[in-house]
Amino acid sequence: MSEIDPIELSRALIRRPSITPADAGALGVLEDTLNALGFSCTRLRFEDIDNLYARFGTGAPHFCFAGHTDVVPPGNEARWSSAPFDAEVKDGFLWGRGAADMKSAIAAFASAASSAIKKGAVTGSLSFMITGDEEGQAINGTRKILGWLQEQEIEIDHCLVGEPSNPDVMGDMIKVGRRGSINSWLTVTGKQGHVAYPHRADNPIPALLRKLLHLSETPLDDGYERFQPSSLQITDIHIGNPAHNIIPEQATARFNIRFNPTWTGATIEAWLRTQLIASALSSAHDTNLKQSCRVKHFLPRI
Ligand SMILES: [Zn+2]
Repeated sequence: MSEIDPIELSRALIRRPSITPADAGALGVLEDTLNALGFSCTRLRFEDIDNLYARFGTGAPHFCFAGHTDVVPPGNEARWSSAPFDAEVKDGFLWGRGAADMKSAIAAFASAASSAIKKGAVTGSLSFMITGDEEGQAINGTRKILGWLQEQEIEIDHCLVGEPSNPDVMGDMIKVGRRGSINSWLTVTGKQGHVAYPHRADNPIPALLRKLLHLSETPLDDGYERFQPSSLQITDIHIGNPAHNIIPEQATARFNIRFNPTWTGATIEAWLRTQLIASALSSAHDTNLKQSCRVKHFLPRI
């Protein structure tokens, strides 16, 4: 059995364009690698998502490597200096979507496992819990694998998550927890009309912009022991108006809040709704408009 080159395995994984929920063969690359090391692999498919659980040995302590093979979309590919799924090595750096988050970590896991197995240093057992659903809804990934593990009465003693968390050099930071996260969609509805007759219309765009500025400029807290201050980030503004001479009826924005343990999912949503009501009263004109806010909790801290 030869040891695994983490760079070459990272490149093989990056060359599979596994943009959530697509797998594009990425889990298969890992499965073949782990099979060759003597792991027994189980594919766990939940709805449209492929996941992989692999175990070497059965004894305790049971050490688990956890991670994901899916990646976020590459954005405008023309802006990349090399194609996002080519996995080129240039100037001592590996370039590609997933190089940081987190195919290289999975390759490092496999390389570490191969070294330990080769040296006979595995006294308990090792496992890999790898999902294809971390960057998306995260419903059919780790959460469901954990349910499956419980059904199988498999207990994990230690778990290492491969998320990139070192800002400068390898090993300069260890994360001890996870912030809560919610996505919200705010829609302001006005009245459509011709731009030449604005008095007959209600333009929802200025009101939406005022609300977004109010939300993004209002501090949530000053931080919490070992956690950064909570933060609200606007991630999209969608109006979709093809006409240059029409005031649109609706404008929608999406934003995400990452919150520290100062908050729970329920209290952060209550804060958000209070702020929206307060900002609705900040302009006399806004009172003619309607607003609706949809909130989706995503791994909330409870
Ligand atoms: Zn990640």
